[in-house]
Amino acid sequence: MKSVTVIGLGPMGQAMAGAYLAAGYEVTVWNRTAARADDLVARGARRAASVEAALSAAELVVLSLIDYDAVDAVLAQVPEAVLAGRVLVNLTSDTPDRARRQAEWLAERGAVQIAGGVQVPPPGIGTPEAVTYYSGPEHVIETHRSALEVLTGIDYLGADQGLAPLYYQIGIDMFWTALAGYLHGQAVAEANGISAEDFLPRAVRSMDLRYFLEFYAPRIAAGNHEGDVDRISMGVASVEHVLRTTEAAGVDGTLPAAVLEVFRRGEAAGHGQNSLTSLIGVLKGR
Ligand code: NDP
Repeated sequence: MKSVTVIGLGPMGQAMAGAYLAAGYEVTVWNRTAARADDLVARGARRAASVEAALSAAELVVLSLIDYDAVDAVLAQVPEAVLAGRVLVNLTSDTPDRARRQAEWLAERGAVQIAGGVQVPPPGIGTPEAVTYYSGPEHVIETHRSALEVLTGIDYLGADQGLAPLYYQIGIDMFWTALAGYLHGQAVAEANGISAEDFLPRAVRSMDLRYFLEFYAPRIAAGNHEGDVDRISMGVASVEHVLRTTEAAGVDGTLPAAVLEVFRRGEAAGHGQNSLTSLIGVLKGR
């Protein structure tokens, strides 16, 4: 029977262990707060009494913890010899450097890390459209492909262990900024008596940036920041209108004010008549 261990039973780890149970795996689970395993045990998972027992139960070990400090705290509980021969699929979020250092530390103890960044919330685990970024040794990922695909599809980025966390953090950077934009917009909408349901189809249209990304990316790649379609000075005037509308609604203007500040820096750097894409250079300090 195929077996896997899942360590860390937050919403994500619980969804992952559940997906393995549904796929017929023998699933061993461990969590710092043991009671979080109760539902999974009722569905057939084995509760390991210790981290050592959890690691010993399967070659493939999925780690889903809050950060790499938690990973360190968990792995410090086992004799290092137990790590040898294990494949640790580390789906814990942290920085690229942390992932590289963790992989080296594990390699010195005979274990292999696969670093991953999950691209869906827990209900997306086990659905066909879900994807996870992976980095690390390709042959190990190929060996365990069918087990990884129980969770999500695979977007393999390369051998450098930092790549999956890097792509993950960039994506999350964009996600948080965009989501904060939605929440700000809804606050202005509500202050004007517009409900979330009423605004929803308009919000979806405004948040669909695909056209802009596909228009800008080739121009950015070509170094073309011509102001033939959009100009930073237009952006400054536009965000000033947003800020005034926000203030008139009595809503906190921190977010549009931050955007205005970035756009004004672009103007101050002499890019007022260039495309908004020239802000990339301004943000990079060039
Ligand atoms: P959390 O990020 O809240 O992680 C909770 C888990 O970490 C619990 O099992 C908790 O144990 C454990 N933990 C925290 N500190 C320690 C410690 N010092 N020692 C041992 N265990 C510790 O839950 P999620 O399941 O939501 O996320 C797991 C990972 O997946 C995170 O890195 C997150 O960024 C990532 N992720 C989450 C997504 C989501 O939508 N939830 C989406 C994509 C990625 P205990 O139960 O005892 O507190």
